[in-house]
Amino acid sequence: MCKAAFFDTKPYDKIYFDSMKQAYGIEIEYFESKLNPQTAVMCGGARAVVAFVNDDISRETVSVLKENGVEVIAMRCAGYNNVDLSAAAEASIPVVRVPDYSPHAVAEHTLALLLTLVRKTHKAYIRTRDSNFSLNGFVGFDLFGKTLGVIGTGKIGRTFAEICRGMGMDVIAYDPRPSDKRLEYVPLEELFERSDVISLHCPLTSETYHIINSYSLRLVKDKVIILNTSRGALIDTEALIEAIKTGKVGGAGLDVYEEESEFFYEDFSESILRNDVLSRLIMMPNVLITSHQAFLTHEALSRIAEITLGNLRSFFDGKPLENEIKQNKKLLRKE
Ligand code: NAD
Repeated sequence: MCKAAFFDTKPYDKIYFDSMKQAYGIEIEYFESKLNPQTAVMCGGARAVVAFVNDDISRETVSVLKENGVEVIAMRCAGYNNVDLSAAAEASIPVVRVPDYSPHAVAEHTLALLLTLVRKTHKAYIRTRDSNFSLNGFVGFDLFGKTLGVIGTGKIGRTFAEICRGMGMDVIAYDPRPSDKRLEYVPLEELFERSDVISLHCPLTSETYHIINSYSLRLVKDKVIILNTSRGALIDTEALIEAIKTGKVGGAGLDVYEEESEFFYEDFSESILRNDVLSRLIMMPNVLITSHQAFLTHEALSRIAEITLGNLRSFFDGKPLENEIKQNKKLLRKE
């Protein structure tokens, strides 16, 4: 059996990985802690680590992993902005990931955020449970005929564009590498100026860091809806809050947040949230925050377990690593 140390474990991870690990001949030791320079020592005896979106796989962590005999890092997610790829390459530790598990899961969650914001169903649910059947304050707008601007037209962006086109929206897009002939690609500034809804589906890189900022928020239409199910640091949160306060932004649906690693996936319901920016966002009536859960479907979790275990099996068998991350662009290490 080849052993892997699994960090930031949640009960649902165990269900899917435990159901498949034997078939792949992988033994798993689960840790609830996130992977970071302090916890990396816990992987002693494991040849692989399995990590997730908010683990800190900095140079320091990679060095501790190397000292402890780790030979491969398997990300059980698509994004890898939290991995120091240079450090891993220097330590001769390949990094593999799950590039494509269910674009539908993320695209459909983005739609859920959009429809909830526009039709206020989250508030209606609470109101009717209290036998309050008033409609005051619930006026929404039709998405039919409105313009969606998609930033990043990879697997998820294209899927979301397709769904929105199905609802009669006009879709425009920005991507330095256009890949969908059916989409109207426009310069970024034009996308900001024309869109009623803007949805982010690009990776976090040095080029996309704070792609939504005080400048772009001056260009957007009044009452634009901003959706982010990609990575938190694509948005300058302070600038977004200012634009919401002035009414320039009409609503924000956020599955990710710049400083999420300390908070998301944990329960703080019994304590005071020690993050003023997040607290302010949560208090805003036209902001909807979910806790980086767009991937969380049965289909996606099954594929994540299957592909991650397959990646590890290929490594242990000395086979080519189909899903190895090649260091071809400057990704930011931390959001
Ligand atoms: P992908 O690699 O298929 O597509 C990314 C697209 O972004 C590509 O077309 C690329 O050309 C484009 N891009 C690169 N630089 C850009 C720039 N400067 N401006 C605009 N576009 C740019 O990735 P995907 O599978 O569609 O995933 C998109 C993002 O969604 C991932 O990077 C990840 O951060 C995020 N994600 C979030 C969740 C979640 O649970 N919230 C789950 C999976 C993925």
